[in-house]
Amino acid sequence: MSRTPLVLGNWKLNLTRAGARTWCASFRALAEAEPLPRGVAIGVAPTFTSLDAAREGCAGLPVLLGAQNLHWEPSGAFTGEISAEMLREAGVTHAIVGHSERRHVFGESDERIGRKVAAAREAGLVPILCVGETEDEREAGRTEEVIEAQLRRGLARTAPRSGAELVLAYEPVWAIGTGKVALPGQVEEAHGFLRSVLAAATAPGLASEVRILYGGSVNAGNAAGLIRLPEVDGFLVGGASLDPAGFRRILEAAAAG
Ligand code: PEP
Repeated sequence: MSRTPLVLGNWKLNLTRAGARTWCASFRALAEAEPLPRGVAIGVAPTFTSLDAAREGCAGLPVLLGAQNLHWEPSGAFTGEISAEMLREAGVTHAIVGHSERRHVFGESDERIGRKVAAAREAGLVPILCVGETEDEREAGRTEEVIEAQLRRGLARTAPRSGAELVLAYEPVWAIGTGKVALPGQVEEAHGFLRSVLAAATAPGLASEVRILYGGSVNAGNAAGLIRLPEVDGFLVGGASLDPAGFRRILEAAAAG
């Protein structure tokens, strides 16, 4: 089953509206100098306040707009939150759900993450469900138990019907923002395991269609090696996505893989 790779830049709490415009202008200049690689889907996930600046700044370029988070209710007394429909209205097509910083810094539970995945799907957004173990969990031999539980609970309230309706991201917590990229064997093993859980938990045939991204200190230097792994279908890129030229090199590696 061939799956078109997806590379999504997670800008986290970076880039103001002016910063988003500058990023897009640089990325556009690179694309004008040399066409963007074909065969890779490209996206960025700016802060909520920079969504429209990124959408306008990257207009005409094949750049999908992602959100970093969402709330599961469509409206109501939920101060500080944003709904899937509001994101859709802003031009968002993909929503990161259950990122490790949401889980560990903001205490998001699997139950809430499951609600968010369902809310994203109901609004027509593609959820990018993130799972990953901590260093302690890996050292204790609990990686599979942890990521299986996160995956099953994340999908507990929704039943995607095609591979286009869901993206998974395997992001070992110890590899995010640390410069410690997971070893190829660890990545391949985790992705293969997630696909087997997906096969057991979802409609027949769906597991082979769903893209499983790797995230955790991906950069222009290591992307080519990672994308050659058969189970790696692209990347969720944090720090290295903030530099348009470096991000572009990751796209090239993903397209060539
Ligand atoms: C992320 O935020 O999803 C991520 C993988 O970050 P980094 O690439 O900086 O490790």
